[in-house]
Amino acid sequence: MSAPLVKLNNGLEIPAIGLGTWQSKSNEVTAAVEFALKEAGYRHIDCAWGYGNEKEVGDGIRASGVPRSDIFITSKLWGTYHSRVEECLDQTLANLGTDYLDLYLVHWPVPLNPKGNHPIFPLLPDGKRDVDHSWDLKDTWKQMEAMVQKGKVKSIGVSNFSQKKLDEILPTAEIIPVVNQLELHVYNPQHKLVEYLRSKDIVPEAYSPLGSAGSPLLSDETVLDIAKKHSLQAADVLVGYLLAKGMVVLPKSITPSRIASNLSGAVNASTKLESGDIEKLDGLAAAGKQKRFITPPWPVDLGFDHWPSLL
Ligand code: NDP
Repeated sequence: MSAPLVKLNNGLEIPAIGLGTWQSKSNEVTAAVEFALKEAGYRHIDCAWGYGNEKEVGDGIRASGVPRSDIFITSKLWGTYHSRVEECLDQTLANLGTDYLDLYLVHWPVPLNPKGNHPIFPLLPDGKRDVDHSWDLKDTWKQMEAMVQKGKVKSIGVSNFSQKKLDEILPTAEIIPVVNQLELHVYNPQHKLVEYLRSKDIVPEAYSPLGSAGSPLLSDETVLDIAKKHSLQAADVLVGYLLAKGMVVLPKSITPSRIASNLSGAVNASTKLESGDIEKLDGLAAAGKQKRFITPPWPVDLGFDHWPSLL
């Protein structure tokens, strides 16, 4: 079983299901990536410098024996490297053991102080994240564009960008981001932002499609009813729903049976779900279940609806 392909605005294609690797421990992720590629039919792996496990992901890619050219690899620029894009990218390429990425994303629209008190999460004396307010996001994007020109990445995109943040870079962008990777699932569908992305030909990529670790989505009554009706698992419905909406979906698992079913079960579900099922799932958040699971306390206005006031 393989995932369908989604066309990007630069003409390239991306497999619609990718294996997530966040919080996959270094001693578990190699086997998960190898299994996903070799046994389960995945051809897309979602990584990030900030996950701290790229070396082990690279080991899994090589162990799978699947040729590099058949695999779509995404990684992400961490916040402390907004002013040093190539430096972060070169580390990622060395970690993964490849000389190019298929897709490189700006992980968060939040430049962090590169000279702060911590290489990943620098903090101010008051405990707030040390954001580099003097840095212009447009300059991050210029450096991202230069990586395409140098041939180190085939496509570039963004992650966790609200419309407000996209509108900071789009007017001067020479390359339109091909994707925006966002928290997208039945409890956080972000319909307005997704519509905006569609109007700009930017593909929405769904992270935490199952609601991340310890998720209540898997036991949601509506999800379970729909699963039962079609003889599916809850996870099949959750991933299949996003797939049926034309998104790229990034379920994470280190469990072989789940890795396999998150692709095959979801592709199956995407063909079985009826318009009435999709409508019900589309309406869950508005019916009082709106919830985000990934909310780092950035002390900047990200411009998202439903962002908790942690700041
Ligand atoms: P997911 O929504 O993919 O959920 C992962 C959790 O669900 C794990 O605990 C996993 O357990 C469990 N699980 C996986 N499959 C099943 C299944 N079929 N049935 C029951 N439980 C299951 O969460 P993530 O937050 O990891 O998001 C997915 C990926 O998206 C990340 O790994 C990362 O690549 C990306 N991401 C990007 C972010 C960004 O800022 N750009 C932020 C967050 C995520 P187990 O592994 O033990 O099987």
